Amino acid sequence: MIEKLLERGGDLVESADVCVIGSGAGGAVAAAELAARGRSVVLLEQGHHWTRADFTQREDEMLPRLFEEAGMRQTTDGAYTILQGRNLGGSTVHNLCYAFRAPEPILRLWREEHGLSELTAEALSPSFLRVEKNLRVKQILESELNASNRIIRTGAQRLGYSGFVARHNREGCIGAGYCILGCSYDAKQSMLITYVPRASAAGARIYANARAERIEAEGGRVRRVLGRVVDHDGRPHGSVEVKAKVVVLAAGAVASPDLLLRSGMANGSGQVGKNLHLHPSVLLAGFMEEPIEAYRGIPQSYYIDEFINLEKDPHRGYILMPISGFPVLTAANLPGFGRAHFAHMAKFSRMVGLLALLHDRSAGSVESGRSLTKPRIAYRMEESDRLELSQSLVHIAKVLFAGGARSVLAPYWQDPVELRPGDDLSVLERRGVREGEIGLASTHPQSTCRMGADPRTSVVNAWGESHEVAGLFLADMSVFPTSLGAPPQLTTAALADRTAFHILGRWPEFAA
Ligand SMILES: Cc1cc2nc3c(=O)[nH]c(=O)nc-3n(C[C@H](O)[C@H](O)[C@H](O)COP(=O)(O)OP(=O)(O)OC[C@H]3O[C@@H](n4cnc5c(N)ncnc54)[C@H](O)[C@@H]3O)c2cc1C
Ligand code: SF4
Repeated sequence: MIEKLLERGGDLVESADVCVIGSGAGGAVAAAELAARGRSVVLLEQGHHWTRADFTQREDEMLPRLFEEAGMRQTTDGAYTILQGRNLGGSTVHNLCYAFRAPEPILRLWREEHGLSELTAEALSPSFLRVEKNLRVKQILESELNASNRIIRTGAQRLGYSGFVARHNREGCIGAGYCILGCSYDAKQSMLITYVPRASAAGARIYANARAERIEAEGGRVRRVLGRVVDHDGRPHGSVEVKAKVVVLAAGAVASPDLLLRSGMANGSGQVGKNLHLHPSVLLAGFMEEPIEAYRGIPQSYYIDEFINLEKDPHRGYILMPISGFPVLTAANLPGFGRAHFAHMAKFSRMVGLLALLHDRSAGSVESGRSLTKPRIAYRMEESDRLELSQSLVHIAKVLFAGGARSVLAPYWQDPVELRPGDDLSVLERRGVREGEIGLASTHPQSTCRMGADPRTSVVNAWGESHEVAGLFLADMSVFPTSLGAPPQLTTAALADRTAFHILGRWPEFAA
């Protein structure tokens, strides 16, 4: 059962074995596996239940529908734009479908530096296999590479850079290219069309427009979740109360710590909301001689891993990824005003974007703001991260030129740099990447309720359970002990699957 509380009206009073908060990559998986194995489950999702009929392929309509703060969520200093989902299915509804397992060197780091000896590739394999099967993960075919991914592959190959065509979770994709605005063809295997319906079919009661605002415990055990029925802007329309023996918090790496802080729980270590990693990204635009319409076809399929060697150094590196935008997002990321801005936009159909995504060591924080819709997110790059991301600009430009770009634009807000083939690229490294000077974004906020064996330095244990409150589990990207250094949706889903099976195994204890 999936119910839109705004349409139904009134308050929600429920009780269940398990209350899951959030329906993204983590929450939907936990809800489905628990419900499929006999637990009564209530899932609360603050966002609307949009379906493919609502995915109009228009930025002006879809950005407000699918993204927190209409895609304009930022760090408090305005330097980083943070993209997160706010709808049934969470960020998986607008994401770009790269499907990677957690890199083994990162799991080793988590074992060696965070005491998570249980997290071996072997132990996680059943969860990854289940998730990959349910999300229909498969290799992207050669015939499915669009123009911009081909150009970037050509550039990387000419330079001898390591790269490959990735695996994705799509089925029957017609290459429309609108993934980031929601797939109108139900080809993207997001949680909305995979695990959410599975959970519903298994008996989970799924409520859209239900925002959790407080988790309560009694005698060291979770007892209930309180919240509001909210509209898309977060305005309250009714109350929500769910009594539960277990709470699985999966509201994402910004909302989950905010909720814990507001609930005043599970923070004896002082680590809730700390250790925020962003996988910060910066992009350059290349302009080809002829129109290539990079916005058509699968947006991201090639993946350049030349500058990340986690086996050698699991703490650093960056990945280069193709990116294409639609007019509004592109215009917002291009510098200049009036004629200067128009001159860039006039070349829109010839544009090919390439971004660097940093495996960051810098650590920011999330604190509660004036409301749950306005958290305070702080992040500043350490110097070593800044230098690394600055170096990436040169490599991005090299790939774009080697792929045939006639010019490359570094979109600094003031004095953008436009380069031609043969120009000295070291200017890019010298200008570098500084907050407020060039657009910086994060699509992967993580690590704000990190896992670890030591309750003094972490929030949850290797199974996602709070060190302090019995029956409180976290099952979203907030649990990563460090930056993952790879696209995170599968790892989030696999860890949530593992957490669900752990809860099932210990059920007699929670039921008592
Ligand atoms: C533009 C973009 C492209 C991406 N591309 C890829 C990719 O190609 N490959 C990849 O691996 N990853 C990708 N990602 C990242 C991936 O989508 C996320 O890692 C993943 O969805 C995170 O899962 P989560 O469960 O932590 O949070 P989410 O999926 O964000 O889900 C959290 C849910 O909780 C809900 N919620 C929040 N607060 C509350 C509350 N108080 N009460 C009730 N509900 C609440 C939210 O509305 C949301 O639906 C991309 C992300 C973005 C933004
Ligand atoms: S490219 Fe494929 S998955 Fe993306 S919107 Fe088009 S049909 Fe859907």
